[in-house]
Amino acid sequence: MSEEMKRTGKRRIGLFGGTFNPIHLGHLRGAEEIREAFRLDGVIFIPSAIPPHKAMEEIIDARHRLEMVRLAIASNPYFSISDIELSRSGKSYTIDTLRHFRERCADSLFFILGGDAFVEIETWKDFQNLFTLCHFIVMARPGFQKTPLANRLPGALSSAFQPDVEAMTWVHSSGHRLVFKEISFLDISSTKVRELIERGESVRYLIPPETETYIHQHGLYRRREGMGDFSAQKG
Ligand code: ATP
Repeated sequence: MSEEMKRTGKRRIGLFGGTFNPIHLGHLRGAEEIREAFRLDGVIFIPSAIPPHKAMEEIIDARHRLEMVRLAIASNPYFSISDIELSRSGKSYTIDTLRHFRERCADSLFFILGGDAFVEIETWKDFQNLFTLCHFIVMARPGFQKTPLANRLPGALSSAFQPDVEAMTWVHSSGHRLVFKEISFLDISSTKVRELIERGESVRYLIPPETETYIHQHGLYRRREGMGDFSAQKG
């Protein structure tokens, strides 16, 4: 239990959105380091149904991605999964997901994302309002800490934030914080995993064994016509 929860009864919850196509050890290790560093009481993985920024033909059926996340996090009592973006119709916008959680719980919420996703944040729907809903934690690559605070924000955001130089964070006019946290970034991407599988090469030690077994059982990522058909690929 975090100190905040003991004091206020509020949990500290991380929200980790992604395509997870498929989930890999970079996602899992990043989430675990952030959980520990920020004393989060839990991290909720939120697979997106139709991500606004990605080419759909590369993305397999959401139910496969959800199941792979479920298997990958099963042994971690701090990790859980939400299918909120899958149960909503249309594109998965983070602003809608954050509103959903904000309206339904009084917990302190921390949206977790990678540095590569953060640099594109100005293209996200209603991006200015994202920061009115929760704190943001950006997982940064080693060495990032040397980047001066002033150079960490995209221009369109700078007027809404004040630097807290001592804490090396930005404080939004709503009071929420934007924190950059260096993690031991594993150079793994879902793209790389998909490419290896397509070429018939090993993905061992890049994804959890449970996920690997699932991919093989369902013949995922091997060839285009095998992708995305959940009903046809059982066992
Ligand atoms: P793709 O290669 O298909 O673009 P991806 O590996 O970037 O996928 P996503 O599901 O798009 O995976 O990422 C979800 C979130 O996890 C994003 O915020 C992304 O920045 C972050 N992330 C991706 N890879 C890593 C990694 N190796 N370490 C830490 N965070 C990561």
